[in-house]
Amino acid sequence: MEVEILVIGNEILIGKTQDTNSNWMAKRITKYGHRLKRITAIEDSIEVISNTLQTILKRKPDMIITSGGIGPTFDDMTLAGIAMGLNRELELNEHAYNSIKKAYEHAYERGILKLEGMTKEREKMAHLPQGSTPLPNIRGTAPGVKIKEGETAIFVLPGVPAEMKAIFLNVVKPILKEKRGKFVEKGFIFMGIGESQLAPYVTKLEEKYPQLWIKTHPRIGLSVEVEVSITCFNVENGEELAEKALDEMREVILSLNGRIREKSSGT
Ligand code: ATP
Ligand code: MG
Repeated sequence: MEVEILVIGNEILIGKTQDTNSNWMAKRITKYGHRLKRITAIEDSIEVISNTLQTILKRKPDMIITSGGIGPTFDDMTLAGIAMGLNRELELNEHAYNSIKKAYEHAYERGILKLEGMTKEREKMAHLPQGSTPLPNIRGTAPGVKIKEGETAIFVLPGVPAEMKAIFLNVVKPILKEKRGKFVEKGFIFMGIGESQLAPYVTKLEEKYPQLWIKTHPRIGLSVEVEVSITCFNVENGEELAEKALDEMREVILSLNGRIREKSSGT
């Protein structure tokens, strides 16, 4: 599948919050063999959310995951922005209303919150774009939302990392697993010759194996060490091809009097 992430929040753009959510999701999307095509970060603005969503939809990804801005406060406008972008009304979702009400009752009974009952702000979280399916939020109150638009599945997740992760693991991960693709990543480290000296050979290998993405990365702080990595998505016998290409690379490096260190896990 092709996936895009849309991160929503002023806090991210002013540098108050570091966007760790998309990195956490990116690792998992990739692990299951899907291709994350783009991560977009935008402010809390109904128009910007609406326009950006429309732009992403034009690229026809299989899945869009948004994070942030579904809470009770006035600056949480993700759902309004998404409704606008999809040309749908926001409507009270009975299911979401009941689960939010229950969550607040629970919090009140346990003395976590002092304000009892539903308020305008709490009700706001139960207003979802028409055609939404609410996704239970066991770590918080604002439910996540699933919306289908054409062939694209949109998942609207909270910004609070623990809440985002809980819904992602419960709802999104099973889909990623079910539609699993194959992602291969292999590599090693070499030293004794520079990255640029190897570059022409990398170019040749790229031409020979167009299905593979062959990359060298200098290791920061240890500029004498260069990492070679080969990745590929959904390539039949990708593993084998990557091994073959790496072997050819090893031969070249040794012939240039370089040295090789195989990667142990964790490097
Ligand atoms: P809530 O219902 O708790 O308000 P929300 O969906 O409205 O959830 P936000 O208001 O956007 O979430 O963010 C709440 C907090 O979650 C932020 O103050 C920040 O600490 C954290 N957060 C938001 N977005 C991210 C992100 N992309 N990466 C890491 N943390 C984030
Ligand atoms: Mg909020």
